[in-house]
Formats: sequence, structure tokens, C-alpha cells
Amino acid sequence: GYQRVLEENRKLYNQVQDLKGNIRVYCRVRPFKPGQSNTLSSVDHMDERTITILTHSKNGKEARKAFTFNKVFGPSVTQAEVFSDMQPLVRSVLDGYNVCIFAYGQTGSGKTHTMTGPKELTEEGLGVNYRALSDLFHISNQRKETISYDISVQMLEIYNEQVRDLLSADGVNKRLEIRNSSHNGINVPDANLVPVSLTSDVINLMNIGHKNRSVCSTALNDRSSRSHSCLTVHVQGRDLTSGNILRGSMHLVDLAGSERVDKSEVVGNRLKEAQHINKSLSALGDVISSLASRSSHVPYRNSKLTQLLQDSLGGQAKTLMFVHIAPEYEALGETISTLKFAERVATVELGAAKVNKDSGEVKELKEQIASLKAALARKE
Ligand code: ADP
Ligand code: MG
Repeated sequence: GYQRVLEENRKLYNQVQDLKGNIRVYCRVRPFKPGQSNTLSSVDHMDERTITILTHSKNGKEARKAFTFNKVFGPSVTQAEVFSDMQPLVRSVLDGYNVCIFAYGQTGSGKTHTMTGPKELTEEGLGVNYRALSDLFHISNQRKETISYDISVQMLEIYNEQVRDLLSADGVNKRLEIRNSSHNGINVPDANLVPVSLTSDVINLMNIGHKNRSVCSTALNDRSSRSHSCLTVHVQGRDLTSGNILRGSMHLVDLAGSERVDKSEVVGNRLKEAQHINKSLSALGDVISSLASRSSHVPYRNSKLTQLLQDSLGGQAKTLMFVHIAPEYEALGETISTLKFAERVATVELGAAKVNKDSGEVKELKEQIASLKAALARKE
């Protein structure tokens, strides 16, 4: 009885979510660092879709604010579990879809952990980038009697609104141009595009990319937190019977740290970096929220990042914004601003404003949910 109603309710809710289009927002909360277990947390409560943050109101009283996402991952969720949720999205690349996956959050919140993994990589620690490519290899191999796939990757960095090649043999110093050609769409013709067919190929390339990235950093100047890195996977599949070609692409983006810097405290290069980051992250937010609200004008041209990804944001493309939260109470200010960014990108999809644009099917499902909820309430 009760369990079945609950189950039905969840199934319908998921169906509504699936019909909701191509922009999804996930939230992941990092665990406390070792030895930090008694630290005060800003996170009051989490469930599958909601995170509640503990704040304080002006008069010092405790207050709570809840944010809703397509999915919330708590601190004990493993890399494998995170990936398994994203697997259908990743696999759609082999069917010719364009996919963008973004890791957003303040420095230290776990973006690189999600996308790449911890510094000392173990099998269980492997991040989305490795798992996604391994999975593409695995599925393309399963389909090899019917479709022949070519998979290749690029790895770019955007730092201070300049695009550089992380797979370049002679370092990352050359600035590259983003071009728009009629037959290739948006591309960076001078960046290395490397064919891959084994997970070990990917591991080797990522090592080159990481080395190139760290060459530009010093201990005091961790450039990786102030640049965006983008691993792009290009897939081309040829149907062995019809000869038809399909193309898909996936961008896996580890964004620059979203923390606001105090303008009174930084000057020179650091200020310039901060302004570039600000500009590109808000440009990204603007693009995604105007896509979500189906606005007729999408402002792609306001940053290098959105220009680079233009073909893969909007239309039939699928976007996953993965926001990361540090649990410490001291991070509360940044946590709230991260959740607000995520909410801005997401609520247009989840909010009531879209009701009249819903298809009849969504409306019907919503009505069913309402009546199931009522049934549930009567049981309680
Ligand atoms: P960012 O890339 O956002 O600056 P990192 O991914 O480097 O943050 O994470 C900061 C630290 O926290 C790293 O030492 C990382 O290994 C650790 N960490 C982050 N997320 C997790 C997680 N889900 N589980 C365990 N450790 C994590
Ligand atoms: Mg990082």
C-alpha cells in the first residue's frame, strides 16, 4: 500500500524530470577533511533532491534555506555512484548528442576530485573523465558489428580569456583562436586532436595535460584554480550497413574557482584574473539560464568559454551543471553564492513559471502526482 504509493510517486516524479528538457543541475557535498570531523557544518540536511543550509538571520537566530536540484550527492557518495548517475548522459554521445558537463564551485570544494579524482589516483578514485571515456570505449566495442566509432580528444585551458592547448608537446604558451567553419562548426583548428581507443591512452594524455597545467603554477600561484580546463571528446560513428555518419561530442569542464575576491585586497594580475573568471562564470550562467527559459537571444559571445562551447549548449545538446559545496561553516558565504548560481540556472526549469509551456503529458503527470500526494497524506 503505502510503499507502493511512494514508489509510484517517485517514478512519476522522475518521468516529469526526464521530460523537462536538457539542462540538469546536480549538487555534491565534499566530506570534511580527515581530522575535521567535529567541525561545524553549514549543511543542515540533505536528501535525494534537496539540500538545506544553516544560516543565521540578522538577529542571530538560526535560519534555514532549502535548495532543490535534480540530484544531491552527500559526502559519502562514491566516484562510481556519481558516475553511474551520469552514464546515460555520457552514452548519448555515441548516439550523436552533444553533451557539456561542468564542475562548478569554490576552490577546494571538490571539482577536480569529481572530474579527475584525488592526487594519488586509485581505481576507485577515478573521476568522471576517465570513467566516461572507458565507458565510451566499452560501449563502442559492444556495437562494433554495426557501427564503427572513432574517438579522439582535445584538452584546452582558458586562462584570462585566452585559449591554450594542454596537449601541446612544446608547452602551453601559444594562444589559439576559436574558429567557426561551415562544415566543422565551432573548433580550435590548431589544438592537438588525439585519437584514443584505450583507457591507458587517456591516462597518458591526461598526465601530459596536468603537467602542462602545473608548469604555469607555482606553490603560491595555483593557476589551475583560476583557469577553466576542458577535456573534449569527439566521436564519429559510421553505420556499417547504411554508411551513414553520426557525430557527437562531450565537453568535460573543470571550471575556475567561483570564489569572489575582495577587490580591495587584490591588485594587478590577481585582480585581472578575478575579473576574467567572474566574467566567464556569469556569462556561462547567463547562457544556461537563457537556454532554460527558452529565450530567443542566447548571449554566447560574452566569454571565450561560452564561445568555445556554443555548439554544445542549447538545441538538442544536453547540459549538466555539477555544483560543489564545501561543508565547513566558514565556507557559508561561498556556499550560498554557489547554491544561488545553481538555483538561477535551475529554477527556470523547475519553477512554476513554466507550467503553461508544459506539454499535456507533463500536466497529466503533475495531476497524477498531486493526487498521489493527497492519497499519501491521507495515509499518514
Ligand atoms: P577543487 O578542484 O574544487 O579546488 P579539489 O577537487 O582539489 O577541489 O578538492 C579539495 C580536496 O578535497 C582534495 O584533497 C580532494 O581530494 C578532497 N576531496 C574533494 N571531494 C572529495 C570527495 N568527494 N571525497 C573525498 N575527498 C574529496
Ligand atoms: Mg581543482
